[in-house]
Amino acid sequence: MSLSDDRAADPVVQLADITQVYGTGDAAVHALRGVSLDVAQGDYVAIMGPSGSGKSTLMNVLGCLDVASSGTYTLAGNDVKTLDENALARIRNQQIGFVFQSFNLVPRMSALANVELPLVYARVGRAERRERALDALEAVGLGSRASHQPQELSGGQQQRVAIARALVTSPTLVLADEPTGNLDSTSTDEILEMFNLLALEGRTIIVITHEAHVAEQSHRVITLSDGLIVADRTSARIHAAGVRP
Ligand code: ADP
Ligand code: MG
Repeated sequence: MSLSDDRAADPVVQLADITQVYGTGDAAVHALRGVSLDVAQGDYVAIMGPSGSGKSTLMNVLGCLDVASSGTYTLAGNDVKTLDENALARIRNQQIGFVFQSFNLVPRMSALANVELPLVYARVGRAERRERALDALEAVGLGSRASHQPQELSGGQQQRVAIARALVTSPTLVLADEPTGNLDSTSTDEILEMFNLLALEGRTIIVITHEAHVAEQSHRVITLSDGLIVADRTSARIHAAGVRP
């Protein structure tokens, strides 16, 4: 059975001619100049590009943190332009799992409580919250660290807690912004291995990275340059394996 057999017909992410302009008139910066992109369910995509190419801008659009100046973004069948601030907040909470470069864990709160947080916002009851957060921590190999606070964990472990937090709502899309940017090479390998496992489970993952070796661990590498997609290709790892995901 190939991975593609599991894919739903409709893409999870559909960007059609997205532009993003900051400022107006002579000061206008065209950060995205017409980006079109489909990401299917189960796809594991890396977005690369030099500094200033529009990666963070695209990440903010994909994460429903910003609405594009023009074009259409359809996430899991919803045109995000039609949603009000409450609906966008709900989508961010329930459909997207965010992983950040700096982990963004709440200090002096246990790993378990950190992972429970998205479920608190989603108004999930206490017992279910606890159970799902523990499951998520166990899935990243940190069940035994549930009561530890972030500062008692290594960088790699903190990022695994952040991944557990991203997964605990069973999001449609995992969105990671330079997830290994603050990690040493051993922890980086650990996190990349984690993403590999998630991809095998059929999760949809988009990783923003400027590091080629991180990008090549994905299935599909998209290159941005000056606000446009200039390449969209199979990663070296998938290429070497001789299969197209
Ligand atoms: P990257 O993440 O690839 O480095 P960005 O998306 O941050 O690129 O930036 C793309 C372009 O948009 C750059 O020219 C940047 O200076 C500009 N830009 C980003 N954010 C803003 C902003 N809030 N106001 C004005 N210009 C911005
Ligand atoms: Mg950036």
